[in-house]
Amino acid sequence: MPIVRKRQIEILAQLSGEELNQFLGALPAHQYDFEDLFDYLEDKLEREPCNHSLRFSMQFMMENRLNFAKMSAWLQENGGFCDCKVLEQIVPYWRKAFES
Ligand SMILES: [Zn+2]
Repeated sequence: MPIVRKRQIEILAQLSGEELNQFLGALPAHQYDFEDLFDYLEDKLEREPCNHSLRFSMQFMMENRLNFAKMSAWLQENGGFCDCKVLEQIVPYWRKAFES
C-alpha cells in the first residue's frame, strides 16, 4: 500500500513554536519573502487569470533575486504547481499558522 504523505504545509497550524522555527529555518527563502510573494500573486491574479504556470512567481523571484529553483521546488512539493495553486493550496495553511 502506498503511503500518502501529508504535505508539510497541511500540518503547519499544528506545529509548536519550536517546530515552526525549524520549519522556517528549512525554507529556501525568508518567511517574509514568501509572504511578499503571496501578496504579489493575489494582486496579479486579481487582474489576470492564471495560465497554470508559475509565471508570476517566477517574475517575483527574479525581481527580488530569490532562488527560483529552490523556491519553486518547495512550492511544488506543497501543491503549488502554478500561481493559482499556490494561493489555493499553500496560502490558507500558511496564514492559519502565522496570522492567528
Ligand atoms: Zn493556475
